[in-house]
Amino acid sequence: MKVARNINGLIVNITNSVPNMEYKCPVCGDSLTRNFGVLKQYFSHFKGTGEECELKYKIFENGESNLKDSDLDILKREYYDKKFEGISTELSDYKSDEGFFLTEQQKSIINSTEDKIVVSALAGSSKTTTMYYYCKARPCKEFLYLVYNSSMKKEADMTFGKLRNVEVRTIHSLAYKYVGAFYKDKLTFNYGAIDIIKDLGMRWTDQEIAIKVGLMMKEYMLSNVMFLAS
Ligand SMILES: [Zn+2]
Repeated sequence: MKVARNINGLIVNITNSVPNMEYKCPVCGDSLTRNFGVLKQYFSHFKGTGEECELKYKIFENGESNLKDSDLDILKREYYDKKFEGISTELSDYKSDEGFFLTEQQKSIINSTEDKIVVSALAGSSKTTTMYYYCKARPCKEFLYLVYNSSMKKEADMTFGKLRNVEVRTIHSLAYKYVGAFYKDKLTFNYGAIDIIKDLGMRWTDQEIAIKVGLMMKEYMLSNVMFLAS
């Protein structure tokens, strides 16, 4: 599950979640474990529970769920089966490195001659793979592949590392290269409680609060959660 409810009852995406905070399933209300690995980030129920919560949540993503378990079969049929009814995948003559045929949609993206293209697709539908072949098909062009955080960069590096014409960067590191470097003395590692007190016009007796503000800023700004945990 990519989302959970925080202690205030608000829906939080896994990528906006923080360590050491309590998160609950939006469907059943059970406590969730926060898994923030290099390859996958997700909330999960404890072993053996919550198998159907994810499906229920997807169905009622935009509303509150008051479903009974007995409703689930009907919903599966009414929503899921109908949603994918009549969808068939046409394969093209475009082959992947492993010899699999890519789809017609992927081929039309890879062979596009437009200046700008926008690809909108569901999670897990091979967007990254398609981008890989798009870049591979244009060895004389240079590509910049931007990701949100360093966990995603590690994942993207495994794919795009095979190509010489693609540079994978986090948005942060790109901004740092051109803008942040000029302000490096003001970035969080060198920005302590004393600076916070001065800049916010706080009283010197509020040092404890300033330290907490500093920690919060660091958690917010560091995209590498693995680093924080250690
Ligand atoms: Zn649940």
